[in-house]
Amino acid sequence: MTAPLPPAAALRRIAFLLERAREPTHRVAAFRTAAAVVDTIGPDELDRRIRTRTLTDLRGIGPKTGAAIVQAHAGEVPEYLARLQDAYAELVPLADDVAEFRAALRGDLHMHSDWSDGGSSIREMAEAAVALGHEYMALTDHSPRLTVANGLTAERLERQLDVVAGLNEELAPFRILTGIECDIHLDGSLDQTDELLGRLDVVVASVHSDLRADSAAMTERMLTAVADPHTDVLGHCTGRLLVPREQREGRRQRPRPESTFDAEAVFGACVEHGTAVEINSRPERLDPPLRLLALAVELGCHVAIDTDAHAPGQLDWQGDGCERAVECGVPLERVVNSWSAEELLDRWLR
Ligand SMILES: [Zn+2]
Ligand SMILES: [Zn+2]
Repeated sequence: MTAPLPPAAALRRIAFLLERAREPTHRVAAFRTAAAVVDTIGPDELDRRIRTRTLTDLRGIGPKTGAAIVQAHAGEVPEYLARLQDAYAELVPLADDVAEFRAALRGDLHMHSDWSDGGSSIREMAEAAVALGHEYMALTDHSPRLTVANGLTAERLERQLDVVAGLNEELAPFRILTGIECDIHLDGSLDQTDELLGRLDVVVASVHSDLRADSAAMTERMLTAVADPHTDVLGHCTGRLLVPREQREGRRQRPRPESTFDAEAVFGACVEHGTAVEINSRPERLDPPLRLLALAVELGCHVAIDTDAHAPGQLDWQGDGCERAVECGVPLERVVNSWSAEELLDRWLR
């Protein structure tokens, strides 16, 4: 890593290296939280805070994170980061490897539009994906049960399919794959009609409720969902939230630990039933954690490196997922969204 990074990226880089070096989680979390604060206040306020030396008055920014922000803002590699890169030189993945990996991705299989809880239209998301060089994207708005996220009823999803068909005619050869991020019910069944699920190209199945269930119950629930013939991708498998996040209507979600489940059984079932394990690139998720991703690789899972973008700019987050894939030795041929749309549809989404 030679080029200087913008402040939030430098902080995330530090968090990533600390995580890989198995440093205590509170230290990792401090840098992730600070990165989220920098994202939230925006560049103008950041400038002002640095000028007036009031950065550390912000909740979530302390002396160490503050110093790193000031140095990154000045176009330097923060001392803290430089020290880590020295100390863990053998752990630092070659930036070139990550870039190459990322360049090999042809699409993104998890994102939201303003039909559910995203901030932008389907067209804006598609145009941003085209601009990134993607050949396809799966539109995966939420399912009915997730009312807080304006989940789509069967009727609305049917209407969305027509809209996507129209856009596909216009945007060809770029392709919007139809899809859903389908809530996994407590009994492991999926939150949409069988008929509709059968018509969609991509079904990302995710747990969004009762995340603190005991391991046996969570394992059963996930095993059932992973074995469902409609399921193509298992979304953000642990449900962890690394930093607080803002939600609609001023709601604020607190960080939460990973759900507990028998990862070996669940990933084994993913291999058996042809369900890809998602690497969720959202900075507050970064799910699965590295130790679980390494386990998934060892067991032979396929993966999908997704952004779970809720805005066009977030489609750019795939690099963070790629970094984790490279770190855990994911073979590129096992990344389903490195395949062409045709291959993906033939081999994975049938
Ligand atoms: Zn989700
Ligand atoms: Zn999502």
